[in-house]
Amino acid sequence: MKVQNLVVGCGLSGIVIANRIAKELNQEVLIIDSKNHIGGTCYDYKDDSGITVHQYGPHIFRTNSKEIWHYLSEYTEWYPFMHRVLGIIDGIEVPIPFNLNSLYKVFSPQLAQKLEIKLIEKFGFNKKIPILELRKTDDKDLNFLAEYIYEKVFLGYTIKQWNYTPEQLDPSVTGSVPVYISRDDRYFQEKYQGIPKAGYTKMFEQMLNYPNIRVRLNTSYKDIKDSIEFDRLFYTGAIEEFFEYKYGKLPYRSLNIKFEKYHQKKFQNAPVVNYPENYDFTRIAEYKYFLNEKSEDTILSLEYPEEFEQGKNDRIYPILNPENQEKYNKYLGEAQKLNNVYFLGRLGAYRYYDMNRTIANAFELFNEIK
Ligand code: UDP
Repeated sequence: MKVQNLVVGCGLSGIVIANRIAKELNQEVLIIDSKNHIGGTCYDYKDDSGITVHQYGPHIFRTNSKEIWHYLSEYTEWYPFMHRVLGIIDGIEVPIPFNLNSLYKVFSPQLAQKLEIKLIEKFGFNKKIPILELRKTDDKDLNFLAEYIYEKVFLGYTIKQWNYTPEQLDPSVTGSVPVYISRDDRYFQEKYQGIPKAGYTKMFEQMLNYPNIRVRLNTSYKDIKDSIEFDRLFYTGAIEEFFEYKYGKLPYRSLNIKFEKYHQKKFQNAPVVNYPENYDFTRIAEYKYFLNEKSEDTILSLEYPEEFEQGKNDRIYPILNPENQEKYNKYLGEAQKLNNVYFLGRLGAYRYYDMNRTIANAFELFNEIK
């Protein structure tokens, strides 16, 4: 068989590149996925209770890019959702990212006020300070605060999530949830935020709904690679698998997500509640919040992070540290020798991309090849 464009992986990056090639270059695309559904880890479905569930954990879309927002808006309407997360610290619910409101939840008003004044004096109002930066301050009170937040918010959560401490990982990992010197309790501040009204899967179906796109599920690249020819291959799977592990495995974290359904209207006070200190799971998501769906039931997911093991679970999070990056760079060197094969997405690029970055990465590649 011969196709113009073969896309391996029908997750967000594969869908975006397939969509743009089919729509704007009017070329044919075959997109395959080893799973039995499209959407990769953004896949969602509606449960009998009328609640939309994200099978791989909560996904909230946000971007500052007008271009990306308008691009997706061709395929979906949006529920204008702004995400909020609470963390349980010493049994108290506090806004995460830790902000000025969080200060007043855990400390006496006098101490909170003293720390608030010091934070604003040192860094300014409306500033975001990564915890690893805050820990470097020499002020005694700010140092006390930094150690408190480090231990209560980051250390336990990060060890559960990654099996590493914050300083053993690339600073961008904990830097994406900085201490926020603000009263803004939202998890994200991007200009455009929302959840597709009919769900991510429906949006993806629309993005793939072109006569020159064919989708084949339950099909992995190794099943077809000897029987297919292509002009171009877009590979969104794990780069090390493509190169048959010639430089060894790249490690990933995975998630064992347990879903629970209760016959009650509400379980918790926010869409997501983080448990840095207690339990073996990191967080509980309550799905009816995301599209404000009404039901007599509620559905929760509890995320138990675990090591990725081939055949047991999925690669979800690349583990960003210098050693892994160095190994990835060897694979990248191999990739650069090929002239009609492109690697993209979280696994192709071995990067901790969120949805916005995943789309931006696919757009960059599209602009290169078009
Ligand atoms: N993090 C943490 N405590 C929290 C929230 C986040 O330690 O309450 C750290 C943790 O290392 C986590 C990272 O910040 O992996 C990024 O958090 P985010 O919520 O962005 O993770 P994702 O939704 O991508 O799993």
